[in-house]
Amino acid sequence: MPDVNATPNTPPTVPVVRFAPSPNGLLHVGHARSALINWHFARDHGGGFLVRIEDIDISRTRPEFERAILDDLRWLGLEWPEPVRRQSEHFEDYRVALHELRKLGLIYPAFLSRAEAAEIVRQSEASGRTWPRDPDGAPHYPDIDRRRSETERDRRIAEGDPHAWRLDMECAIKGLDAPLGWREIGTGPGGETGSVTADPAAWGDVILARRDVPTSYHLSVIVDDAFQNISHVIRGQDLFAATSVHRLLQEILGLPEPLYCHHALVCDSHGRKLSKSDGDTSITALRAQGASAEDIIALAGMPTTA
Ligand code: GLU
Repeated sequence: MPDVNATPNTPPTVPVVRFAPSPNGLLHVGHARSALINWHFARDHGGGFLVRIEDIDISRTRPEFERAILDDLRWLGLEWPEPVRRQSEHFEDYRVALHELRKLGLIYPAFLSRAEAAEIVRQSEASGRTWPRDPDGAPHYPDIDRRRSETERDRRIAEGDPHAWRLDMECAIKGLDAPLGWREIGTGPGGETGSVTADPAAWGDVILARRDVPTSYHLSVIVDDAFQNISHVIRGQDLFAATSVHRLLQEILGLPEPLYCHHALVCDSHGRKLSKSDGDTSITALRAQGASAEDIIALAGMPTTA
C-alpha cells in the first residue's frame, strides 16, 4: 500500500487519486485491483477518489464500454463524485498545452504515415543496423521530419498535408536545468522504489497529438492530473516507464509533480498480464457466471470495500 507520509516535492494537500479507464473494452480483475487500491488509499487517508474516462481514442471508444465500466465499479462498492471527467470533452485543454510546447519550439509536425515510418525502420534493419525501440518494444520514430526546415514544415501544413505532432525529445531534455526523476512509493517492474531517475530518451520522439485526435495519452494524462489536482498517481506497473515522459512534460509545462505508486499487475494462470481483448476474464463475464463482488475483490487480492 502507498505510504501517504512519503515526502512529495510539492506542499502537502489532501490526497486525491484517480482511476482512469479507457472505454475500449471491459474491465478485468486487474483493473478492479487498480481501482480498489486507489479507492482504499483515498478512504484510508481522508482523500478524494475520482474516476476519469480516458476516451481520446475515438475509433476504439464505445459508450457501452463506458456504461459497463461505471456499472462494474459501482457494483464493486466504489463511489466517486459526478460528473466524471471525460477526456473527449476537453480537447481544447490539450490543444492549449500543445500550443505551449509549440511556442517553446519543442514539437514538430510529423508527416510520415505509419506505413512509411515502418518501411524506413524495416529497410534500416534489413541493412543490419539496430533501430532503437521504446520500452514497449515499438521502434523510435525516424528523424526525417525533425530535420525538416521551418519553411518546409509551414508549407506542408499550409498545403493541408496530414500530420501528427511529436516531441523533439533531444531538445526537450537539453532544456532541463536539473536531473529529472520522481518519487516512487510503490515499485517498478524491476523493484525500483524511492527516488527514481527518469529516462524519457528511451521513448524517442513521442507522439503528442495524432492526425485525427488533437492529443495523445501522454499529453492528456499530465494535463488532467494537474487539472484535477491528483496528488498520488496510483496505477499498474505497465505504465512505470511512461512516467519518465510524464515527468518531462510536467517539468516543461510547469505542472506539479505528483507522487507515483506503481503496483503489480494481476496475471493469468500462465503468468501473462490480463488483457481487455480476452473477454472471458472481464468482470462483466464473471458477474454473468454468478461471481459476487466479494469474489472479484478476493480475486483482485484486495480486502472488501465495506
Ligand atoms: N487509461 C489508461 C489505461 O486504461 C490508464 C492511464 C493512467 O492511469 O495513467 O490503461
